[in-house]
Amino acid sequence: MQGKIVKGISGFYYVHVGEPGIYECKAKGAFRNQKIKPLVGDDVEIAIVDEETKKGNIEKILPRKNELIRPAVANIDLALIIFAAAKPQPNFNLLDRFLIMMEYQDVPVTICFNKKDLLEEQAIEEFAGVYKKCGYSVLYTSAEKEEGIRELHELLDGKTTAVAGPSGVGKSSLVNRLQPNVQMETGSISRKIERGKHTTRHSEIIPIAADTYIMDTPGFSTLYIPGFEKEDLQNFYPEFKEYEPYCRFKGCSHISEPDCGVKEALAEGKISPLRYENYKLLYEELKDVKKY
Ligand code: GDP
Ligand code: ZN
Repeated sequence: MQGKIVKGISGFYYVHVGEPGIYECKAKGAFRNQKIKPLVGDDVEIAIVDEETKKGNIEKILPRKNELIRPAVANIDLALIIFAAAKPQPNFNLLDRFLIMMEYQDVPVTICFNKKDLLEEQAIEEFAGVYKKCGYSVLYTSAEKEEGIRELHELLDGKTTAVAGPSGVGKSSLVNRLQPNVQMETGSISRKIERGKHTTRHSEIIPIAADTYIMDTPGFSTLYIPGFEKEDLQNFYPEFKEYEPYCRFKGCSHISEPDCGVKEALAEGKISPLRYENYKLLYEELKDVKKY
């Protein structure tokens, strides 16, 4: 039987197999020859050990589409970063970090500004427009007024989506709108199960429809990805590209060099100061990162 690992806790993997539900599986036997550790998100073949108690063994890990280092999950199709248009005000530094982390790992991102009912559309456009201009896909929703939910549904349909965002922006409210049958604990997308004594949070995938899964993505406030260097950073600010030919120095970091095309564009208002300031902050931070 084929299913998807939705959770892994101390040697047990919970495999979702559509209608029959979730099987508690161990990874042993022939599959060991593959010499890879199962990850949440893996599509696997399982053998049922006991139908009554829903126990099974993982026999094979199917080829991975991708594998994220942070969080450690496989087969993510889309990353959805949720901020509130207001209350709390969006933290653009956090947003940039997330965009960089996901793009670095080749995962497409959509930015969702929830609580659109709290601001005039024009006011949201002012900051959202900055990201649209850089080429990101942006969505406005209101979980409260049930706006943009259908668009969100269409976006997620058939995909496994990693959902992230600070607390209080409406993640649980949105997920509840998407799947009325799966009620989420307010303040966290993960359900209460298996939490109790554990202080560490495990990545968990929640099935919301056939072939449609969402995953809670805790902790993305650091940009410590193995191998990521400060010189890589500018590749994730696509709006810098067209001004780089005007930099005097090849390999210009656009921080302190003279005759810098990017800084000139900034002075002329062609590059958003918000984005540039984030770039500078992250650059400084990456300078201090210890090498792995
Ligand atoms: P989470 O911490 O990101 O999961 O956020 P919650 O879903 O728990 O929502 C935090 C608070 O914001 C709750 O009081 C919600 O009722 C409220 N909220 C959620 N979505 C909206 C929205 O679209 N508009 C407004 N005005 N409030 C919302
Ligand atoms: Zn420059």
